[in-house]
Amino acid sequence: MTAYDARLGLYIAGQWLGAEGRETQPVRNPATGETLADLPLANAADLDAALAAADRGFRAWRATAPDARAAVLIRTAQLLRERGDRLARIATLEQGKILAEAKGEVAFAAQLLEFHAGEAQRIYGRVLQRPAGTRSLVLHQPVGPVAAFCAWNFPIMNVVRKIAPALAAGCSIVIKPSEETAGSAVEVLRCFQDAGLPSDVAQCVFGVPDMVSRRLLASPVTRKLSFTGSVPVGKHLAKLAADTMMATTMELGGHGPVLVFDDCDLEKTLDTLVAHKFRNAGQVCVAPTRFHVQEGIYDAFAHGFAERTKRLRVGDGLRAETQMGPMANPRRPEAIAAMVADARGHGARVLAGGETDRGGNGHENGSEGGFFFSPTVLADVPLEALAMNEEPFGPIALLRPFATVDDAIEQANRLPFGLAAYCFTENGRRQNLLGDSIEAGMVAINSVRLSWPDSPFGGVKDSGHGSEDGPEGVAAHLVTKTIHMM
Ligand code: NAD
Repeated sequence: MTAYDARLGLYIAGQWLGAEGRETQPVRNPATGETLADLPLANAADLDAALAAADRGFRAWRATAPDARAAVLIRTAQLLRERGDRLARIATLEQGKILAEAKGEVAFAAQLLEFHAGEAQRIYGRVLQRPAGTRSLVLHQPVGPVAAFCAWNFPIMNVVRKIAPALAAGCSIVIKPSEETAGSAVEVLRCFQDAGLPSDVAQCVFGVPDMVSRRLLASPVTRKLSFTGSVPVGKHLAKLAADTMMATTMELGGHGPVLVFDDCDLEKTLDTLVAHKFRNAGQVCVAPTRFHVQEGIYDAFAHGFAERTKRLRVGDGLRAETQMGPMANPRRPEAIAAMVADARGHGARVLAGGETDRGGNGHENGSEGGFFFSPTVLADVPLEALAMNEEPFGPIALLRPFATVDDAIEQANRLPFGLAAYCFTENGRRQNLLGDSIEAGMVAINSVRLSWPDSPFGGVKDSGHGSEDGPEGVAAHLVTKTIHMM
């Protein structure tokens, strides 16, 4: 198997389009900084062709029987699994996450497709009672062509999470995945194509993000925006979407509070949290970021967290022994270094890491050019520090003590974000109180898992609106029509 064998291109109207006459952009390996391949970028004519195809594709696909739509999703899941090792390798090479995580992503993406295949066949309406011989019908119909944009952090799953509910509902789609992880996305699209998805139903484009989103969102063809990415970009796109009053699903950033109480199972909690914190080098929208720890166990928690963190093996994600890979691009280590410097300036203590690390702590990948940052633990971080207020999106854990449950809830709800929150306590009454009081779309209690195909995934406040996955994810691609038959 060649190292990186993604066949990059734009996928429009069932055709793969290469670099001929188009600008290109390199796709890089974040473990080494090397260029893997050149990605063709869409021009305005390509985007117009994609929109025209999506318009045609919508008319055909909405008229396709639900079981036929489901069959394509099931077959795509099979192909993803069959090609899983190759896809995972491509994802690791271009995004940096360790191979085991990339394989897990493939498996979850296949489950998402299978779940949505079921949901495609469970789109129901209602019959309302009226005088005899008359009735009213409530129908749920596909909203129309979707413009979707997704980030690089889950290069396989993010793409499937956008396409699967759209297709289940009967919508067509134009998706612009991240240019930085284009290979994973194109290989997912090839699975859909090979599974028999009719041409015109799904288009995949890459380009200059601002140009692409402005063109797709200004078009009257597009009836829904679905975005996964940062809060500032999400707000910008929601404003563009308002011009045509299209439906929106916004899956934006978070700053996940972790409330750890004196009565938790400390060793188990530490083992769980350290592994979860540094998954994908902390570049996860639901990553635990702010660790609020009750005073009685704060010192033991900080010590245990730092010791476990120091033992993590950092390096190239393709190497079997690696536990944390590089960050996805050079912007991230720079941003994290600035946050660490700022926190130190405000008096935070560095318990582990704290430095940019060009080759990973193993220095065995033969390169000093990667985008590494060492797994970092900062204690006693003041609320004024930048990292306590902006989404870190990297391998830093921020620790602070708290006294009472009210203090903990106040801290959890302090920021404008409301995506994920985590609580560790054995007290059942307190678990209920926390579940009710925390302003977040998802709360995990004595666990870190927040994502299953059948459960809604999404945030509140600045973290966005609308859910993905679960029946809610398909419902977000439907409009309601009432027909009164008198
Ligand atoms: P970014 O906001 O510049 O980009 C995030 C994604 O949005 C990228 O895939 C990018 O191609 C796309 N994008 C950017 N501008 C766009 C535009 N005008 N139109 C359409 N798409 C656009 O940030 P970044 O430096 O790539 O990533 C870091 C930040 O992204 C983090 O701070 C984090 O908040 C956020 N992020 C969030 C998630 C999530 O799941 N919520 C995932 C990845 C990144």
